[in-house]
Amino acid sequence: MPSQAKAYAAQSATTPLAPFSFERRDLRPDDVAIDILFCGVCHSDLHTARSEWDGTLFPCVPGHEIVGRVSAVGSDVTGFQAGDLAGVGCMVDSCGHCPSCSAGEEQYCETTGFVGTYNGPDTVLGGHTFGGYSDKIVVKESFVLKVGHDEKDLAAVAPLLCAGITTYSPLRHWNAGPGKKVGIVGIGGLGHMGIKIAAAMGAHVVAFTTSPSKIEDAKKLGAHDVIVSRDADQMAAHANSFDFILDTVAASHDLDALTALLKRDGTLTLVGVPEHAHPSPAVGNLVFKRRAIAGSLIGGIAETQEMLDFCNEHGLTSDIEMIAIQDIDTAYDRMVKSDVKYRFVIDMQSLKDAA
Ligand code: NAP
Ligand code: ZN
Repeated sequence: MPSQAKAYAAQSATTPLAPFSFERRDLRPDDVAIDILFCGVCHSDLHTARSEWDGTLFPCVPGHEIVGRVSAVGSDVTGFQAGDLAGVGCMVDSCGHCPSCSAGEEQYCETTGFVGTYNGPDTVLGGHTFGGYSDKIVVKESFVLKVGHDEKDLAAVAPLLCAGITTYSPLRHWNAGPGKKVGIVGIGGLGHMGIKIAAAMGAHVVAFTTSPSKIEDAKKLGAHDVIVSRDADQMAAHANSFDFILDTVAASHDLDALTALLKRDGTLTLVGVPEHAHPSPAVGNLVFKRRAIAGSLIGGIAETQEMLDFCNEHGLTSDIEMIAIQDIDTAYDRMVKSDVKYRFVIDMQSLKDAA
């Protein structure tokens, strides 16, 4: 029997999120059912709920930083049992056999595209998928992550499922580590995890912020140096010095100021996906030092597990501000103003109090 889920949904781009209920599918043999305890609030949730990107399907139940407890498993499930802690990130399925899926990079699935935890095609019930701003979810075992952190840290683990993997994956891919000077641009949900992870990997980490009030925090997070990116002199002092810069900014901005800071053969990788395009970057900045601008999308399931285990080993979780689901629109408004330290996490207990 499908089960009834309670949730918060946006009914349109301009209406606040409000209580909503819908059906979660019955367990298939390879499914895991999870009671959601906490869900992080990613800027992508806001971009989607407010239709800042094309293609939002309403009603929209965002949320792809999910942690909870397994309530039941299908007959073929071997890796989880009722009572286990579990996580779900940005994806709940993919084709499973294209070159990207075969390489464990399901986020780049080349046939169907990955199925998003929300706003993706629901191939079982029809319609579209509903995410983690809800009390339960049913997900194929191969897209469920094991959470090894101490249970008391569970709320602060939730943001690792997107903010953690979206920064870990490019830092690994572009070899952040000892002897490398790595920049992290934007100290928000992604950026603060990028600082922690790059520092744990052994890189020399420099944070870029537009908020001078975050300088001391950035150092506590692990940055060896902090640059206020609107200060041209501070920027110029680091010209031609970075091996790698990871840009997590959620708004359109000038990329040339960052490419100018890369060494020969350095790379600026974009993970922020702003509503409006960045100004076209200067070609000269790239060709004269063989610099590159690249992009990166979350990370595969195996790498997400590797990231969770890495964070557990290094004692890393997210710095969070817990909210009730009823406060989600206020949280979105604060996120637009870069006023988050450093990730909102919804305590799903509050859904039980929802009308
Ligand atoms: P967030 O918590 O809002 O953080 C973004 C940070 O960017 C802000 O805290 C702020 O940091 C900085 N910023 C904001 N406006 C700026 C501006 N006009 N100029 C320069 N810096 C500015 O957002 P998030 O959840 O980390 O997400 C960041 C972006 O990544 C979003 O676009 C999101 O959709 C995207 N994303 C991409 C992926 C992927 O797979 N590629 C995955 C998840 C999220 P300071 O105050 O320090 O300047
Ligand atoms: Zn996200």
